[in-house]
Amino acid sequence: MNTAPKFTAETLLSIRPWAPNLFSFTMTRGSAFQFVAGQFARLGVKRADPDDPKNPSGEKIVWRAYSVASPSQAKELEFFSVAIPDGEFSSQLVRMGPGAIVYLERISYGFLTLERFEPARDLWMLSTGTGLAPFLSILGETGTWSAFDNLIVVHSVRYPNELAYADEIRALSGKARLHYVPVVTRRRHPGALSERVPALIESGALESHVGLQIERSASRVLICGNPDMITATRKLLGLRGLNPSRRGTPGQLAVENYW
Ligand code: NAP
Repeated sequence: MNTAPKFTAETLLSIRPWAPNLFSFTMTRGSAFQFVAGQFARLGVKRADPDDPKNPSGEKIVWRAYSVASPSQAKELEFFSVAIPDGEFSSQLVRMGPGAIVYLERISYGFLTLERFEPARDLWMLSTGTGLAPFLSILGETGTWSAFDNLIVVHSVRYPNELAYADEIRALSGKARLHYVPVVTRRRHPGALSERVPALIESGALESHVGLQIERSASRVLICGNPDMITATRKLLGLRGLNPSRRGTPGQLAVENYW
C-alpha cells in the first residue's frame, strides 16, 4: 500500500505582478511531482478558520487548480493567476509572500497535452486571460518545436496591461516558426487584434492575419480559458471537422475550461 502523503509542502519563491488583477508566482518543486506540459496542479495554502467549531486547530487548507506555466523538466514551478480581492487563495498567497509554505498535490491533472494528437503541420494555442499558462509550458518543451512547422499563440485579454509574458513569448525561437497574436478587446492597441477569438475565426480574420488556415488535416488546436469562449470556438471548429479525441480515435482539438 502506498502510504506517502497526498501532497508535499513546498516554498513560495517569488511573486511577479503584471497588472492589478494578474500575477505570476514560482515555488519549489518536490521531486515526487511529475507532469506533462499542458497539465494542471492542485495547490493549497493554509488559512485561519476560526468559525468552524469542528476544527480545533482553527486552520484549514484552501485548494485551487492551476495550470503549470513552466516546462516539465524545470527545477521550479511557475503559475499565472488572477488576483481576486479577498479571494481565499490568491489574496492569501500574496499576503504570505516569498518563504511561505504552499502545498502541492503529488498528482497532476488534465488532458490539454500534445500526446493526444497525431502529427500535423500547425499547432494553434488559443487562450484568454490566465489560460495562456499551459501554452507557456508547452512552448518550453523542445519537442513542441520539432513536432510542428508553425506554432500559433493567440492571447485574448481585455486591456493591454494584461498581455503578460508578451516579451518572453516574442523572444522564443526554435525549429518551428512562432506566430504570437495578441488580442485586446476593450481598447485599441497597436499590433493587437481587437475582436473576440470566435469572431476572429468565424470571419477568417485570424487566419488571414497569421497566413495559415485552420483545417482538419494540417492543424491541431488547444483551447484554454473562458468557458464561453471555449464553447463557441469548439462549435466553430467542429463545423470544420476538428473534434476532440475519443477513445481510440485521435482528435484535432483539446480544451481546458478555467472556471
Ligand atoms: P475574461 O472575461 O475571461 O476576458 C478575457 C478575454 O476573453 C477578453 O478578451 C474577453 O473579451 C474574452 N472573452 C470573454 N468572454 C468571451 C466569450 N464568451 N467568447 C470569446 N471571448 C470572450 O476576463 P479575465 O480577466 O480573464 O477573467 C474574468 C474573471 O474570470 C476573473 O476576474 C475571475 O473572476 C474569473 N477567472 C477565474 C479563474 C479561475 O477560477 N481559475 C481564472 C481566470 C479568471 P471581452 O473584453 O469582449 O469580454
